[in-house]
Amino acid sequence: MNPPPGTKELRSRFKEVFGAAPDGVWQAPGRVNLIGEHTDYNEGFVLPFAIDRTARVAVRLRPDSTLRMLSTFGNQGLTTADACVLDPATARGWTKYPLGVLWALEQRGIAVPGLDLLLDSDVPRGAGLSSSHAIECAIILAVNELTGAGLSVEDMVLATQRAENDFVGAPTGIMDQSASLRGAAGRAVFLDCRDQSVRLVPFDAEAAGLVLLVIDTKVSHSHAGGGYAARRASCELAADVLGVRALRDVGVRDLEEAAGLLDTETFHRVRHVVTENDRVLQTVELLEGDGPQAIGALLDASHASMRDDFEISCPELDLAVDTARAGGAIGARMTGGGFGGAAIALTPAGAEQRVRSDVGRAFARAGYAAPEVFRVRPAAGARRLD
Ligand code: ADP
Ligand code: MG
Repeated sequence: MNPPPGTKELRSRFKEVFGAAPDGVWQAPGRVNLIGEHTDYNEGFVLPFAIDRTARVAVRLRPDSTLRMLSTFGNQGLTTADACVLDPATARGWTKYPLGVLWALEQRGIAVPGLDLLLDSDVPRGAGLSSSHAIECAIILAVNELTGAGLSVEDMVLATQRAENDFVGAPTGIMDQSASLRGAAGRAVFLDCRDQSVRLVPFDAEAAGLVLLVIDTKVSHSHAGGGYAARRASCELAADVLGVRALRDVGVRDLEEAAGLLDTETFHRVRHVVTENDRVLQTVELLEGDGPQAIGALLDASHASMRDDFEISCPELDLAVDTARAGGAIGARMTGGGFGGAAIALTPAGAEQRVRSDVGRAFARAGYAAPEVFRVRPAAGARRLD
């Protein structure tokens, strides 16, 4: 098989900067979450898919313990002469992500080798498409293979979570890396976050005459901000009060009783999680039956629930969603952790241009920064390219 376009360029760039050929090139995609938001850490269901935007790493093991890392996104790489600076306290900038992976491997007792690494990615940063896990998954795949560590996909999922949680300091779950590692073309990844079990579900929007548009509002989201942590804390508290291991164990039918046990705000948080889990299950059923044309109303309901009950939307996301719907999208919702980032709009191919221009105009009128709108397709998961 010929390596895909761009691989050769990455190889030769690697040779230029590091003076030797890489041992290989690995690729991992970003992801879009079709539905199932803030359900992951409640041990519930999510339905992301791997997208056709990827991080690629060229990697060479070194005979010594030196780590040298460069990214094409401005050559802001760090070059370390000393052995293994795998210390969360000193790691800075984007190298936290690759270093975090190496650190997580070391924590598992895997001897971390010295290496040269060149990263190139076209996953938009900080847009809620998980550019960070794309990097981490590409690297863990490379290191797993080059060192013969023999990690399973489940192991890699947990190791990259450890990297994000304990090294980078982002309290993320297992959704992003599961989508990146397990995704497939024309498929969404139905993931049960309790036991990591996965079922690939047909999601070929384009075959159904639809395009999936991402509307990046350019409002920066940050997991480090208080909102995400506060939502997690509410969910944990509610699970305690309701006497369940996680909100996954609360069903739609239990909501009435829950309302009597929780304060209003906490109840609204719970209602989002519980109904969102249910919407994921319904979406899966529809995709396996009627196809993507049938899921619009569930996307809309998901957005309303995040806006009104979970309160993680923002005016820019609401405007993107409302404008896309008015312009012909059959369903739209914010995606990702919230407080900024991107919305998705499932749009008939014939309405794409209208949605694009309407959203651009609406943002200009509101005085918001120009959003970026682009198509994504459910694409292959992480793999070796060359
Ligand atoms: P998201 O994962 O939603 O895109 P994060 O804040 O988790 O947002 O990750 C974004 C960070 O990932 C960036 O700030 C940067 O440190 C790193 N990153 C993403 N793409 C690249 C790249 N091409 N080169 C170097 N670092 C990158
Ligand atoms: Mg991220």
